[in-house]
Amino acid sequence: MDYQQIIDQIKTMYPGYAGQGFVPLHAATFSGNEKKYLNECIDTTFVSSVGEFVNRFEREIAGYTGAARAVVCVSGTNALHMALMLAGVERGDEVITQPLTFIATANAISYCGAHPVFLDVDRDTMGLSPAKMKSWIEAHAFVKDRQCYNRGTGRRIKACVPMHTFGHPVHLDELVALCREWHIELVEDAAESLGSFYKGRHTGTFGRVGVLSFNGNKTITTGGGGMLLFNEENVELAERAKHLTTQAKVPHRWEFVHDAVGYNYRMPNINAALGCAQLECLPAYVESKRKVAAEYAAYFSQPEVQARYGGIEFFSEPAECRSNYWLNAIILPDHEAQLAFLTQTNDAGVMTRPIWELMNRLPMFGACECGNLSTAEWLADRVVNIPSSVRL
Ligand SMILES: *Cc1c(COP(=O)(O)O)cnc(C)c1O
Repeated sequence: MDYQQIIDQIKTMYPGYAGQGFVPLHAATFSGNEKKYLNECIDTTFVSSVGEFVNRFEREIAGYTGAARAVVCVSGTNALHMALMLAGVERGDEVITQPLTFIATANAISYCGAHPVFLDVDRDTMGLSPAKMKSWIEAHAFVKDRQCYNRGTGRRIKACVPMHTFGHPVHLDELVALCREWHIELVEDAAESLGSFYKGRHTGTFGRVGVLSFNGNKTITTGGGGMLLFNEENVELAERAKHLTTQAKVPHRWEFVHDAVGYNYRMPNINAALGCAQLECLPAYVESKRKVAAEYAAYFSQPEVQARYGGIEFFSEPAECRSNYWLNAIILPDHEAQLAFLTQTNDAGVMTRPIWELMNRLPMFGACECGNLSTAEWLADRVVNIPSSVRL
């Protein structure tokens, strides 16, 4: 199959990048007060672990997402690590997640000394499937003294980490109910879904803790960074998070006393300054990304395009959701088409990439327990991400 027409379409949508000979998958955009705020950090010398931008960034992210509290971290990965610790995950526990995710989700589970259990995703969200999880749990788990255990391994199933793939929210109502019924803590990996809403409520605010990422390729960036989100019921956990991410130091004018094994996970002020400037642009960025997605959707649904490339599907937001369309995705008819598309687009200077290799196929997670993964396996063979940068 010759995909030249799609390559031309993408170049038409990104004329600036195409003119320079390379259309990136997702480039960062700096169009606001970034330099001004960074200069303020340097001029006041508050570049590091103390400074007003950190508090302001936390406040403003809480405001935007509707979280009761937000706590910064130096990356999304260590925000996930912290979130799992706060949810009570301990060495030897099991944590349910999806195999179709970025490696950070599974790594954070390992940092706790816990074991991931990989369960399938839904076709319409590409995220953890409540129906598949329900049938796996009913077949494999039991509850004793308000704790959930795996019948086969005897281990406690402490938490469940769904991930909002490419910014598309998972079926949260069903997962919340299932976790409540089985005494499992819900921790949302919302690293990709800043600006995405499920039934009008921001992703990352449904479980015990939610996690955002501000890595360079995300919707907004702080260079590197992450955020923990807490709703009204969990504000005391936010205090604990603040304490543990700042080396568990007991506040005092001069003494260095620490009351737990803490972590140096606090985002520096200079990164938070970048975050404050980026956050001011977020509504415009999400607007722009949704417009790009709408153009792709219109292009791929044309009868002429469908006739030529029969079977290519543009992935659209799930029902009752408003997605940030962080990375646009198409589903090709089969694995051979996926490889041909990847080769032709990357050869033509249009950056595309396949969805992640499934976690259970990686050497360090190859021995982990899995459910039936038929949908994840089907998607892994077919999904490709296409250029998704903000256009201003
Ligand atoms: C980006 C991302 C993270 C966090 O990554 P960092 O680079 O550490 O900020 C976690 N989970 C998923 C699914 C991600 O895409």
